[in-house]
Amino acid sequence: MTKALALTSGGLDSILAAKLIEQQGIDVTAVCFKSAFFGSKNAENMARQIGLKLIVVDFTEEHLEMTKKPKNGYGKNMNPCIDCHAMMFRHAGRMLKELEADFLVTGEVLNQRPMSQNRRALDIVLEESGFRDKILRPLCALNLPETEMEKNGLVDRSKLMSISGKSRKIQMELAKTLGIKDYPSPAGGCLLTEPQFSDRLRDLYDHGKHAVTPHDIELLKLGRHFRLSPASKAVSTRTFDEYTVLKDLIKEDYITFDTTEHHGSTVVLISNNGQNPTEEDKKIAAGIAGRYSKGREIEKVVVKYKKGSETEYSFLEIKPMTDEEIKQYLL
Ligand code: SF4
Repeated sequence: MTKALALTSGGLDSILAAKLIEQQGIDVTAVCFKSAFFGSKNAENMARQIGLKLIVVDFTEEHLEMTKKPKNGYGKNMNPCIDCHAMMFRHAGRMLKELEADFLVTGEVLNQRPMSQNRRALDIVLEESGFRDKILRPLCALNLPETEMEKNGLVDRSKLMSISGKSRKIQMELAKTLGIKDYPSPAGGCLLTEPQFSDRLRDLYDHGKHAVTPHDIELLKLGRHFRLSPASKAVSTRTFDEYTVLKDLIKEDYITFDTTEHHGSTVVLISNNGQNPTEEDKKIAAGIAGRYSKGREIEKVVVKYKKGSETEYSFLEIKPMTDEEIKQYLL
């Protein structure tokens, strides 16, 4: 029996592509990737909903390294979509042999995204994946040259589609026909497509990208972020839930700041590569803790601080920062 591996994010297009191929009597297994910037939840939900076998591949380390210097550059934000797609295909391509599958399926649609899904970008992905002759794009296949799978009869080209462009009308109609109801919003990309997250990531990479780890990326996902100096940054929690996540991410060289008498945000001061923060950095971090506390209107608040798991606190009496002052540091 012919077998295919369908790359899926859990988004509608990738699910439709897998379903179209399954309808040709081909055995389809879905493959989903997870990294520091995106997870597998949508794919798991969709696979359950439509009864597809799913393999989840965690390529966090390799993907993170690629985002530091993507060969084909970034999209509108910090999203290196061309390299990301090529990396996914490379991985999935290597799985073909082991899983005795014949080819790969993807939900890409020609010209759906101006930078990463134009004809040139689709060709680069084919080339750089290393599996050029094993990749089928069922939703837009009729706009592309015939693939090996179609030529050798594994796939019936007449049952493939010619979707092109941004409109999702055809996909939505097809979803209805196939009984697919709950699918994620089509506009979504991963965290790397979000402007604010991208600003934070760009700042992190500008201040020593080689040392950035998945742990640093987890920190970027919560709170407010501030660049205090080339060597230091601060993160301030907005909610108790963020605090519970943050406290598990605190390392021995982070300095934690809390106001003593006024309920408010916890601030952590983080230095690049084990450098020591200056006294000025500490004052700014304490001023941020004051600003995001119930004592923000008071002339001076007392802020306690300690390094890592130390139990002894030091104290600073400080004027809470104003919004105007804080703006210059906010990422
Ligand atoms: S949106 Fe994110 S997950 Fe999707 S291809 Fe681009 S970088 Fe990769």
